[in-house]
Amino acid sequence: MPELTEVERVRKTLSPAMRSKIICMNKSEATSVLRTSEFSLAGKVINSVRRHGKYLIFDLSTKGSPAYMLSHLGMTGTWSLDDSKEWRPYLHFQLELVKEGKKLWLSYTDRRRFGNIFLVRSKARLNTLGPDMLSKSFNKEWVDFGISQYPKKELKPFLMMQYYFPGLGNYMASEVCARACILPTRKLKMLSKKDTDALWEAIKEVVRIGMEEKGLPYKRYKHLAGARSLGGNCNGCKWFSTCQDSFGVEGNTKACNEFEDKLLLVYKHERCERCGSKVKNVEQDKRMSWFCKKCQK
Ligand SMILES: [Zn+2]
Repeated sequence: MPELTEVERVRKTLSPAMRSKIICMNKSEATSVLRTSEFSLAGKVINSVRRHGKYLIFDLSTKGSPAYMLSHLGMTGTWSLDDSKEWRPYLHFQLELVKEGKKLWLSYTDRRRFGNIFLVRSKARLNTLGPDMLSKSFNKEWVDFGISQYPKKELKPFLMMQYYFPGLGNYMASEVCARACILPTRKLKMLSKKDTDALWEAIKEVVRIGMEEKGLPYKRYKHLAGARSLGGNCNGCKWFSTCQDSFGVEGNTKACNEFEDKLLLVYKHERCERCGSKVKNVEQDKRMSWFCKKCQK
């Protein structure tokens, strides 16, 4: 599932769409990812594309009341921007744009179709999310406040709560526990001051490494952003089951592995990257968590 870092990368690829005018919208007849449609897109201008948690927020110019296109990528959704019209496999939603006399096509592909698009006048849907993890309002006080609210909750399911950690998903949450050296099953009320300090540092570190462009070559970048919308096989890729970019070009397995070695200590690993011990896993709230019994207490 795209997490904070992947959604942020998708957002960055869409910057050429800023200040372009929407000519028309095409969508798949068979399936629809468009859940709410409170207005017509034709004639609107895309002013900006922001992100909050796993949501992309397209701010649309409008006379009078505000208008937004909100997009949640679900499990396999992604956006891409092309300078030619092409109806690719798993393409569900496409906007024809014009910018400075040049046409562009903004396309949403989603292999498993768990993603959603909402054309709405209000961003109320985002009220279920606390401060974005890249914003200044997301700080240690916020995390400590969350911990105080759920003393009986286990750490990893707490880290998956989108209200407190918008955008954090399964692999990042597992890695935060690993880097904080705390078991994912530890109850929040059992965390000491030292633990919560380590937790905060681990959160910052995982987000920072995930956001770094360095170590993420273009192919890998495309791979992260688009691979899973197309499917395919990746020989030897430890990290994703698919290793094609959004144009069907095979991914760079070496780059995938380098990325994984840099960011991930335990997630889907056989051995702990830090100490070499066998990595264990446990199911929490129907999601698997990976941990090292030696490094995490
Ligand atoms: Zn270890």
